[in-house]
Amino acid sequence: KESRARNRLPVLPQGIEKTRFFLAIDEISRDLGNDNVEINDKPLDDGWYMEPPNTHDGMAITDEEELVASAVIYPGSTDDVQSIVHWANKYLIPLHPISMGRNFGYGGAAPRVRGAVVVDLGKRMNRILDINPDDCTCLVEPGVSYYALYEEVQRRGYKNLWIDVPDLGGGSVLGNALDHGVGYTPYGDHWATHSGLEVVTPTGEIVRTGMGALPGNNTWQVFPYGFGPFLDGMFSQSNYGIVTKMGFGLMPNPGGHESFLYTFKKEEDLEQLVEIVRPLRIAMILENAANIRHALQVLALSGKPRSTFYDGNGPFPIKKMHEFLQTHPYGECTWLYYGTCYGPKEVRKLKLDIIHREFMKVPGARRIEPAKLPPTDYFWSRDRISSGEPDLEELAWVNWWPNGGHVAFSPVAPTRGADALRLWHMAKEHWAKFGLDFFFDFVVGLRELHLIVECVYDRDDSKQRANALAAMRSLIQEAAEKGYGEYRTHLLLSDQVAGTYSWNDNALMRLNEKLKDCLDPNGILAPGRSGIWPARYRGRGWEI
Ligand code: ADP
Repeated sequence: KESRARNRLPVLPQGIEKTRFFLAIDEISRDLGNDNVEINDKPLDDGWYMEPPNTHDGMAITDEEELVASAVIYPGSTDDVQSIVHWANKYLIPLHPISMGRNFGYGGAAPRVRGAVVVDLGKRMNRILDINPDDCTCLVEPGVSYYALYEEVQRRGYKNLWIDVPDLGGGSVLGNALDHGVGYTPYGDHWATHSGLEVVTPTGEIVRTGMGALPGNNTWQVFPYGFGPFLDGMFSQSNYGIVTKMGFGLMPNPGGHESFLYTFKKEEDLEQLVEIVRPLRIAMILENAANIRHALQVLALSGKPRSTFYDGNGPFPIKKMHEFLQTHPYGECTWLYYGTCYGPKEVRKLKLDIIHREFMKVPGARRIEPAKLPPTDYFWSRDRISSGEPDLEELAWVNWWPNGGHVAFSPVAPTRGADALRLWHMAKEHWAKFGLDFFFDFVVGLRELHLIVECVYDRDDSKQRANALAAMRSLIQEAAEKGYGEYRTHLLLSDQVAGTYSWNDNALMRLNEKLKDCLDPNGILAPGRSGIWPARYRGRGWEI
């Protein structure tokens, strides 16, 4: 078994000789302990959501050997991270920091540069450093998952505190916020609710932002700005630092909640619905991120594979979707609105009545009575998520294909009916053209609408994978031509997406590059992340 488990040669970072690489590995192993440095010479195991690989992308959309780590290092403290950064500068070894590596659909744990050393922060740096029930705040390390934070709040009996969770609760609270992830309570904009970072810079300085820079402060998690320029934004979706601690505001328990579901019949209803949603959302009558989903996902969320509904190739026939829905408690429809209202019963009633009156203006709209839905219905998963309880039901739709993977196209638009419809038509044309199934989710943060198009493919089918990537590339380009940009993307698509933010002769990227070269003169930290390449790599064929 041992010999079988060691049958790959490690992939080394480009430009470093094998002997020098192993000399470097010996040095960091001595410093951090042998158990905390692992050469990636074992067969690549894709694992699954609860045991994600930290050496590559478990849902690779190209050959998984393309984006693979040479080694993984497990720091146990901020000082360890500092040592790793000094070491990387000495040997010019690219590092790729991850918190927990559950960034599925956007590249997982894979480094953009083949052979980079993954710094897996989550494994050992997983302490909840503080939960303050009076200020309603917390301070966490990278390895704290939503589940861990939720369970600790319960264990301590802080009934007055809620946390906010994204669709899947296994990810890192800190990592998700750094990548601008969202959740579904009124505290759903994770980046916006953060206060305070501790960062190790690419040259190894340890910095605390905001009030954290003031020795002896007791305000790090209650006032994000501190004094002087607000630098926090520089460390999100970037490669300017390794974040080792992050603070957040927590939502007070609102004293009750009630989830609701409305269905809408026709594709074109989307336009009227979004027009209704905008003022209600901006006024906070709709208090959590609107979740307008295309009904095809209902079939996939049943956890049954696509073949049980339809055995043919090409895009899934919508006729079949409608046939299935006729026997489902939701009934025949095209769009579903999942929402939640907060507060005591009498407060909720005021808001729910307005929502009902407005939503029912769409001809054919229906309110689904939650009490009539079985406890296994996906509605109850949304109810848990929208009340801050981590959940994993959302994983079900990945089983649409036998060995399912997914990649997302995530453009941002204003919350306007015409824009929603335009994006929908664009995505629908691609859906037909590329012959892959798409799941659509229009998420309204506040004034903006994120359309999340999840393209699902069979990971064993190289043609489907290539098609999925081609569909994403085409969507990004067409969206940009129409004035829409993505808020987040797969690491293989970062260069393309970054390239669409080109106003004034790419002024933004030129500034990003100037910062990169200044902060990371040796270009060791996550080269290529968000399309930002250090000088050492620029214009040498890395950009794709
Ligand atoms: P998750 O937090 O969902 O498990 P990851 O750990 O894969 O996901 O984080 C998503 C991405 O965010 C990573 O690929 C990495 O680029 C970046 N990232 C995550 N954690 C950190 C961190 N502590 N410091 C800097 N960048 C990070």
